[in-house]
Amino acid sequence: MSNNTFDPDHYELATLAIRAGHQRTHEGEHAEPIFPTSSFVFKNAAEAASRFAEGATGNIYSRFTNPTVRCFEGRLAALEGGEVCVATASGMSAVLSLFMALLKSGDHVVCSDSVFGSITTLCNRYLTKFGVEVSYVPPQQPESWRKAIKHNTKLFFLETPSNPLSVIADIRGIAEVAHAQGIVLAVDNCFCTPALQKPLQLGADVVIHSATKYLDGQGRMVGGAVVGSKAFVGTDVFGFLRTAGPSMSPFNAWVFLKGLETLELRMRAHSAAALELAQWLEQQPQVARVHYAGLKSHPQHELAARQQSAFGGIIAFEVKGDRAAAWRFIDATQLLSITANLGDVKTTITHPATTTHARISPAERQQAGINDGLLRISVGLEALGDLKADLARGLVAV
Ligand SMILES: *Cc1c(COP(=O)(O)O)cnc(C)c1O
Repeated sequence: MSNNTFDPDHYELATLAIRAGHQRTHEGEHAEPIFPTSSFVFKNAAEAASRFAEGATGNIYSRFTNPTVRCFEGRLAALEGGEVCVATASGMSAVLSLFMALLKSGDHVVCSDSVFGSITTLCNRYLTKFGVEVSYVPPQQPESWRKAIKHNTKLFFLETPSNPLSVIADIRGIAEVAHAQGIVLAVDNCFCTPALQKPLQLGADVVIHSATKYLDGQGRMVGGAVVGSKAFVGTDVFGFLRTAGPSMSPFNAWVFLKGLETLELRMRAHSAAALELAQWLEQQPQVARVHYAGLKSHPQHELAARQQSAFGGIIAFEVKGDRAAAWRFIDATQLLSITANLGDVKTTITHPATTTHARISPAERQQAGINDGLLRISVGLEALGDLKADLARGLVAV
């Protein structure tokens, strides 16, 4: 192997996260270059014509491809173990691109009942407008997915661990149910990232990312990605993206590349800190319940331990009391950021019932297990002692 070839099959995740995807230009740059250009120049008219031919490769226009974005795509595909990745402007546009590429009027989707709120809105308000039917199932058991299948079911969509209650779906079992009926299984891998969980290896067909969260890891950019096969993601999802245009900008792709370089290190540190805080919270008299798959008390601890290499950085816990008690907790903290974002080096805290899940009815919230005393923290990388002291201030105020 020469010094400038890179075969992803030879390397482990931490190495891929730092080196995969970059094809050094003739300038010999060491760090990945940013290509802020909307279009690309052809040598002559014949080359222009050949680039536009069906099935041709090579840059034309940055709505279609851009070298910095391609570098990010190559790197994330290598990390997830997928053939190709298509980068998008946000996590939601990754979901939209998947839906638009796969579904047509008359199709049916089975979706986990614990997915990111905007995904439910996208399904209920927009997919249904185009004649696509959506049903929701509790994600844990493969059996509930099997029961929800209809003759026109095309897609299973889930997120594991789920937000905010860390419900774990059995990816391998659900993939078997899907594939027995020729159904596509898409997994939103936002909470674990490929550093902790590889859905494609467990049998999923498509991985969805909100790069906004841990892939960036420092709360700077909004972005997303779809990872999967050349035949579907590389052709149909890419075909929608280049036509409709929810493309990632080269500047954002560059920031995500820098984020990926420290992904494994950060995910290990987030997971270690979250586990320690979850165990500590579980012992506090003001806390009724802690939802974190790393705890032995989590009903699916063993499944999570089987399909994830660690448990991630998101903890939800219920304080003893009502909405006012939960709000007093939040307002008594001094260090934590009161913001709905997650996956940042800065620890954040939210009250799901009045923010991320405020727009669903009280009955639906009750069914989803989002009660008024529930708080969610995304554990960052500040000193653990400082985080504990801040949470202790919250507990006193409850
Ligand atoms: C944030 C999030 C999304 C949506 O991503 P955006 O980048 O905000 O569009 C999708 N899924 C999960 C699990 C998320 O946390």
